[in-house]
Amino acid sequence: VANFWNPVIDIGNFYNSLITATAYLERIFETMDEEPEVKDLPDSFDLPPIHGDVEFKDVSFKYEEDTPMILKHVSFHAAPGETVALVGPTGAGKSTVINLLSRFYNVTEGEVDIDGVDISRVTLKSLRSQMGVMLQDTFIFSGTILENIRYGKLDATEEEVIAAAKVVRADDFIRDMPQGYHTEVQERGSTLSAGQRQLIAFARTLLADPKILILDEATAAIDTQTELLLQAGLNRLLEGRTSFIIAHRLSTIQNADQIMVVNHGEIVERGSHQELMKKRGEYFSLYEAQYRMLQSL
Ligand code: ADP
Repeated sequence: VANFWNPVIDIGNFYNSLITATAYLERIFETMDEEPEVKDLPDSFDLPPIHGDVEFKDVSFKYEEDTPMILKHVSFHAAPGETVALVGPTGAGKSTVINLLSRFYNVTEGEVDIDGVDISRVTLKSLRSQMGVMLQDTFIFSGTILENIRYGKLDATEEEVIAAAKVVRADDFIRDMPQGYHTEVQERGSTLSAGQRQLIAFARTLLADPKILILDEATAAIDTQTELLLQAGLNRLLEGRTSFIIAHRLSTIQNADQIMVVNHGEIVERGSHQELMKKRGEYFSLYEAQYRMLQSL
């Protein structure tokens, strides 16, 4: 419990930024020094355009042979458009659930289905191009803000980019920049605040329009006003997508359709915020612990 609010350790250390659409994934893979673990099966087929129904059927998983299972008999169902929050201590297995959903690894036992199709049978490209993954550290590359947002959909017009930025409430701060959407930003530069980087990521992801969205929430300290702005932008982004959030802040969790508490590779509790608070179990304890921590700041 003590580690719950610490940043989640980098998923497998190989992606450390935002992924949207296949172009970006390919870029990420280029920067990996290892071969990806998973390849298309010889008889794989393209996953048709999805609605975003996700089901884990009795999934168990271990990263390496001759080691214990990291996930044990995980089953859940998320209907299209639902928001699912994964909470629990560091090392519990939350990122591993996400790794299996995006098929960075194949399950050891059981099955992951999207719209009723076993994802191990489809091409990686057709799967991942329909998923957006936003990780803690938003990826910004050297170029204009416009180009950075357009990365979500390479053929988007300037009007589309601006429309997306407006929806997620990024438009205001961008217009305040010296050259607006044409302001140059640097990959490692500090031209943008953490909150602004997130808003760019939201706009980029909205443009990519994935049916399934995976979000590893940033834990960086941001002020309350930025937090409210981000929450508003995020709510717009979540609309109409099945979303999985590795949540570190309560504000994001409270409206989730399902909260799953993961511990030692198992789902130990599930329900809405209200249901879990009533239960006074593990979620309740995590909630209380964070509340006390915030009070002491
Ligand atoms: P969480 O996201 O809840 O912090 P993870 O899913 O990252 O937890 O980790 C679950 C367990 O799997 C941990 O014990 C972790 O050490 C182990 N693990 C994570 N990634 C790998 C990997 N690439 N290889 C081997 N073990 C891993």
